[in-house]
Amino acid sequence: MSERLADQPLQSLRGVGPKLAQKLADYGVHGVEDLLFHLPLRYQDRTRVTPIAALQAGVDAVVEAEVRAADIVFGRRRSLVARVQDGSGTLTLRFFHFSAAQKNNLRTGTRLRCYGNVRRGSSGLEMYHPEYRQLEEGETVNEERLTPIYPTTTGISQGQWRNLCSQALALLARAAPQDLLPPQHSHGYSLVQALHYLHNPPPDVPLGQLQEGRHPAQLRLALEELVAHNLALLRLRQQQLSVEAPALPAREREYRQLLGALPFTPTGAQQRVISEISHDLARQQPMLRLLQGDVGSGKTLVAACAALQAISNGFQVAVMAPTEILAEQHRQNFGSWLAALGIEPVLLTGKTRAAARRDILAALACGETGLLVGTHALFQADVEFHRLGLVIVDEQHRFGVHQRLSLTEKARGRSGRPHQLVMTATPIPRTLSMVAYADLDCSVIDELPPGRQPVTTALIDSARRNQVIERVASACADGRQAYWVCTLVEESDVLQAQAAESTAAELAEALPDLRIGLIHGRLKAAEKEAVMRDFKAGEISLLVATTVIEVGVDVPNASLMVIENPERLGLAQLHQLRGRVGRGQAASHCVLLYQTPLSQHGKERLAAMRESNDGFYIAEKDLALRGPGEVLGTRQTGDMSFRIADLSVHEDLLDEARRVGAELSRDTQRESALVRRWTGDRQRFASV
Ligand code: ADP
Ligand code: MG
Repeated sequence: MSERLADQPLQSLRGVGPKLAQKLADYGVHGVEDLLFHLPLRYQDRTRVTPIAALQAGVDAVVEAEVRAADIVFGRRRSLVARVQDGSGTLTLRFFHFSAAQKNNLRTGTRLRCYGNVRRGSSGLEMYHPEYRQLEEGETVNEERLTPIYPTTTGISQGQWRNLCSQALALLARAAPQDLLPPQHSHGYSLVQALHYLHNPPPDVPLGQLQEGRHPAQLRLALEELVAHNLALLRLRQQQLSVEAPALPAREREYRQLLGALPFTPTGAQQRVISEISHDLARQQPMLRLLQGDVGSGKTLVAACAALQAISNGFQVAVMAPTEILAEQHRQNFGSWLAALGIEPVLLTGKTRAAARRDILAALACGETGLLVGTHALFQADVEFHRLGLVIVDEQHRFGVHQRLSLTEKARGRSGRPHQLVMTATPIPRTLSMVAYADLDCSVIDELPPGRQPVTTALIDSARRNQVIERVASACADGRQAYWVCTLVEESDVLQAQAAESTAAELAEALPDLRIGLIHGRLKAAEKEAVMRDFKAGEISLLVATTVIEVGVDVPNASLMVIENPERLGLAQLHQLRGRVGRGQAASHCVLLYQTPLSQHGKERLAAMRESNDGFYIAEKDLALRGPGEVLGTRQTGDMSFRIADLSVHEDLLDEARRVGAELSRDTQRESALVRRWTGDRQRFASV
């Protein structure tokens, strides 16, 4: 039965020609069954007509009224303006895009049923581009259902989606897709019932519950989707494990040598994780491990130990970082720790010059280079390894699963699949990691190196900016160093750089005795390096920066951080930034210099920062306040675009999803059907 609907081509539906079918396919909708699972984002209540006199600005409303006049108006923008009346008042409809036919159809006396957002305009209440249709003589409309609003793409209208989905629903009666969830997990709705309900909810539904995604019909489908996602990741894991990896046994002598060269002893947590990884590497199955540890917990050393084990066994290691600054810093750290063992890391970034790059690639291809550190540049097609044994990805939340795969695929067929170590400083709430990283084993460094002082965080209104500047002056006068972080909402490098530049100029004027450095994404790699070197060496006291310093930067003498407009950033990002201080022995401070007025939401978020230095606590808060998209970063969620499930709303389903997944994974056919249904070809991992 299910095959029929799944295979039924879209062009068998009314209104679908080759062009629309192509658009739908580009959007990921290939067959009738895909349409059924293309669920509304939200619903509009168009069941009630509002008299014009009762309309309020800002509200969506249905109006039935008669056209009094329709004219083309040549204002700043040419528009078609229709005045309509319903006996209670007059409303203006305004169209900036319109056809001649449209104008001709709006003859005086024509009755319309319009739906749109009401706004206050130059002529009283107006609607811009309302959806409308002409009513026949004496026709009354009785809309009994809420109107679904579908996610869409350019060139496919809501009307088209509604039409297509209702045709697909009609077909359900003849060929229902298979119910793949065990009945005891149905939340009271069969698949078919849930689909009918959500595409076409009756008017008496608790609209609030539906909008929040908590209606049982939604819970049922969200659960099914989470199960599918979980199974897809587990399948990815199986596939990865089915390829052999080189066995890289522990190298006791080299490890001792490394420890002997360190200025400190690894913490208990570091030692535990190092041995977990060492054990994984020794096996002939690829390691797939996620290493979580709060900022400053010492993940880099763990990575260096793993790298050492691989290199001592004659294999190559790639270390990938999200920014150039961080890549450079890793090169330095790995270099200083591993120098005693004759290992010299090589840096490859997008800014590496062509000639140098050629040499680096040659040394890599012949196996001369053992340790390559870099940014995304490591993914380029011409980067070839001789014998890649281990891939380390730092600050994973910045990279997606796809990128992770593309690097490991490089080594396929030559020396087996490399082992993978993924490190993240953004602690991922447990529930979330079970879904987002179901394909990985997890190690946690749950201990900070000894002697660390918690960072004291203060919230200060930007009206008191001058006091904060004085505070910077006195910290620096005591021989400490400080960061001043400028934030902007825009992603634009240029604007961010400008903001940082003008702040640096302003601070230089206020603090003429201080050596102030400036770092932002627009600087050349060499310039960034020089600034960071000077800051590390203490030649610069105050470093004005954009959020480029968010990850990984390590200057223990810096004990004060000022973050301007912290309300613009997510909690995880703030926690990352704040982690740049509190790395040395001195008591450290973080000043969140916020702009008033703060929203309630903004207050709660900043308060969470003041309350806690615990990355896990903050991540849980962030998840509750902002949702998983923000917590995991956009790239990550790009891989996890759910159709109906929303991790911040359906977190309580995750446990159930995992249990159902475990149950279903014993039934290969069912499992495949489920993964195909929900992940289709949108996610590469479903088909790797
Ligand atoms: P993160 O986990 O945030 O990547 P890092 O690896 O950058 O943390 O480590 C933070 C700082 O702590 C570095 O200066 C590092 O050399 C130092 N460090 C790491 N492990 C220890 C330890 N066991 N004892 C003392 N300092 C350590
Ligand atoms: Mg780090």
